[in-house]
Amino acid sequence: MKDLMFYYQKAIKKGFALGAFNFSNLEIIKAISSSADELKSPVILAVSETAFWNMGCEFIVSIVNTAKHVYRAPIFLHLDHGKSFDICKKAIDSGFDSVMIDGSSLPFEENIKLTKKVCDYAHKKGVFVEGELGQIKGIEDGLSNEENHFTDPLKAKIFVEKTKVDSLAVAIGTSHGAYKYKGKSELRFDILSEIEKALPSFPLVLHGASSVNQKMVESINKFGGNIVGAKGVDEELLRKAIKKHNVIKINMDTDLRIAFTESLRKTFATSPDVIDPKQYIKDAGENVKKVVDYKIKNVLNSVNQK
Ligand SMILES: [Zn+2]
Repeated sequence: MKDLMFYYQKAIKKGFALGAFNFSNLEIIKAISSSADELKSPVILAVSETAFWNMGCEFIVSIVNTAKHVYRAPIFLHLDHGKSFDICKKAIDSGFDSVMIDGSSLPFEENIKLTKKVCDYAHKKGVFVEGELGQIKGIEDGLSNEENHFTDPLKAKIFVEKTKVDSLAVAIGTSHGAYKYKGKSELRFDILSEIEKALPSFPLVLHGASSVNQKMVESINKFGGNIVGAKGVDEELLRKAIKKHNVIKINMDTDLRIAFTESLRKTFATSPDVIDPKQYIKDAGENVKKVVDYKIKNVLNSVNQK
């Protein structure tokens, strides 16, 4: 199978992006993988540190290896926001295709040092590494970051050269969680262009890129939830970042959480007699798959790129 870098380079040339969809259970893994299979799209299955410990590294690797075998799509397993060398090492040693080392909260030189250490280890084993420079607003794995610190293009160049990182998550206005914007969403395309000037043809990543479907938000609130005011990124901005820029990986977690939760809330509210997980978990997985189908077709532009 072609490796992740093959698809990153192809994505830059052809103007598509790989969806990095977070999972926390088997149904979501199946939803993402079967969508990629049907639409002949490469896809990244991303797991946060919390999900990594909740599901267990060994379970994750063996389930995803099974998915790679069952579905005829290029599927890559990726650690999202690894905060330490140790967790990255565990993922690398266990068979992950790619890890993110997130040293973005550290001083610049320390971020370089930590990212380089992970790259040196990972590259020996053929594993790709994503770094982060600048800070993305919002809540990630329970840790809140109030302010956006946009990526400095010149520092990005130094960072990539010194660490030999394979891709870079940049902060240009997206944010983690379900409450991304109060007013109109916007992205700093001027900063993105400056980064691209400093790093030509280099794979860039956008985190916190869920769009937060308003119909699903309404439905969750109607059936007993409370996520009033949840709002995401305008999809038109993402399409522009993918087609006209070197953004080759788009992280989406919130949109899948919302789809899974909406289905469960609806089932429990409208069918209070249901007690069989087989039934409601299957429905929730199907709801997630619809979202992944939609993203691959209408946002990521990655249909038939396998
Ligand atoms: Zn993220």
